[in-house]
Amino acid sequence: MAGVLNAQEALELFEKSKTHKMAYPAVNVTSTQTVNGVLEAAAKANSPAIIQFSNGGALAYAGKSLDNSGEIAAIAGAVSGAKHVHEMAKLYGVDVILHTDHSARKLLPWIDGLMEAGENHYKETGRPLYTSHMIDLSEEPIKDNLETSAAYHKRMSVIDMILEIELGVTGGEEDGVDNTGIDSSKLYTQPDEVGYAYNILNAISPNFTIAAAFGNVHGVYKPGNVQLTPIILKNSQDFIKETYSIDTENPVNFVFHGGSGSSRAEIREGIDYGVIKMNIDTDTQWAFWEGVRDFESKNRDYLQAQLGNPEGADKPNKKYYDPRKWLREGEKTLVARLMEAFENLNSIGANDKL
Ligand SMILES: [Zn+2]
Repeated sequence: MAGVLNAQEALELFEKSKTHKMAYPAVNVTSTQTVNGVLEAAAKANSPAIIQFSNGGALAYAGKSLDNSGEIAAIAGAVSGAKHVHEMAKLYGVDVILHTDHSARKLLPWIDGLMEAGENHYKETGRPLYTSHMIDLSEEPIKDNLETSAAYHKRMSVIDMILEIELGVTGGEEDGVDNTGIDSSKLYTQPDEVGYAYNILNAISPNFTIAAAFGNVHGVYKPGNVQLTPIILKNSQDFIKETYSIDTENPVNFVFHGGSGSSRAEIREGIDYGVIKMNIDTDTQWAFWEGVRDFESKNRDYLQAQLGNPEGADKPNKKYYDPRKWLREGEKTLVARLMEAFENLNSIGANDKL
């Protein structure tokens, strides 16, 4: 099948991925161009993909001029984006895990609106609108984080959805949330915290993933700021296997936030320890811009007025400034960067693996 996966289908995919040591890029999208670019790359890679809207991305999708009181525009943008993905994923022949990125407590009204839309969609079609939502209460005490997360987890499980939570804090800055100055011990999750969360969530249903902090940061900064320590993920898996007497290799489905700028070796080490999803935003933002920038610098003399270029003062320039032309160049470089991500994540040809 191709289209937006439900929880059972996504969990089956995660099991297969852990067996074959594969993971998928979770790409932050903001427009039809970026959504279509991800679908184009996934079709080319013969792999499933993860498409995600942040709150700001959903708002951009709706249009920045709108009044967003009560998250009304961000809800509508995320619903509209989801419908575009549902329609197009089938056409591109791509399995998509459709997801929303970080929601801190102040953004829960956004998730509440999407849950309502998701429950209606489920009533009508028997399928979830989104495969998963992230609730990120990592800045709160873990008990408060899990109490609220567990309540959403129950509600999501009923409509075949997955919950993603975060433990520890991803450093850096993204979507207006600035964690660049945070105490560095918070950037490293403890295995017993992962065990605590696993136990509470697993008692409700297996439909969850955990973003554990292991020195990862949002954004791309000069090297050496923080040390990436994927071994935290292995120690957490070992702790859970021992504490709850589980004998599968990697019981937890881990999410790698702040994937931009990571080396292939760091990514592959994460996958060895149960990473099935790697978020990528900063690098794909740059990739889209590169295509547009190169187009402009190559054709600058044809982009200064509607008429007039080196071939003559009356020559029309429409075929250069038409947005379809330069936005397409951004899509192409986005696709190229995503092919690199699929390769780093070992998921080229993932659809053919059993
Ligand atoms: Zn993140």
